[in-house]
Amino acid sequence: MRVEQLGSGTPEIAVVGGIHGDEPCGVHAIDRLLADDPSVTEPVKLVVANERALERGVRYVDEDLNRAFPGDPNADTHEGQLAHDLVAELEGCFTFSMHSTQSHAEPFALLDDVTDDRSDLVTQLPVTAVVETSHFSEGRLFTAVRTLEVECGLQGSETAAQNADRLTRAFLSAAGALPGDTVGREVPVFRLHDVIEKDNADSYEVFVENFTEVDAGDTFAAADGDEQVAPDSFYPVLMSPYGYRHVFGYTAEKVDVLAAPPTAE
Ligand SMILES: [Zn+2]
Repeated sequence: MRVEQLGSGTPEIAVVGGIHGDEPCGVHAIDRLLADDPSVTEPVKLVVANERALERGVRYVDEDLNRAFPGDPNADTHEGQLAHDLVAELEGCFTFSMHSTQSHAEPFALLDDVTDDRSDLVTQLPVTAVVETSHFSEGRLFTAVRTLEVECGLQGSETAAQNADRLTRAFLSAAGALPGDTVGREVPVFRLHDVIEKDNADSYEVFVENFTEVDAGDTFAAADGDEQVAPDSFYPVLMSPYGYRHVFGYTAEKVDVLAAPPTAE
């Protein structure tokens, strides 16, 4: 884990990249911020989390770090120990954590619960949606530290790296650490409902767009040509042919739209 800081004093705001070692966009955004060294109005802690996995270019070394929180100093996995160290490092910080996916190119946010004050901040970020992880939150960073997660775009893409940079600056402005105004927008909320299983196969296909409603009776995916038909309508989220080993992604329901904050005069 690499820990850096902008400004002096004890930070109450943190930015985290590299929770997953095959998602370099957040690390790029942190390095860019360090290189620019902007004058902050509040100190900001910057953390590159899973350096060992980043060096190897893999999602994780022993287990998924974002399912390992709160962790344990005596865990027998690298990520189990790292989760514990990361929670200690981020204690008392409102944390912005960056990821990237194989499912969707546009940035979106994730929260375990959209009813708290972190959702006000979501509407000031350049995101197209917020996903409420509800009962799929176990082991994620936001169960241990007050966190707002974002997916910045497609894994390894230049666009994801640029988005990570933009999202970080918007977060820091909205959180009051960087000067400047943010642009408010309405953001739809999608609550995860169920996993979409995928059978063992050699090739997978997905025929639908994330965040776009799939009607009952629509064919939405296939495993070795074996088509899967939706029994009921749903919104696909984090859905891709190869992003996850055992599931295509998730079904979600559209539950709300977060209102844009009032613009300052
Ligand atoms: Zn990730």
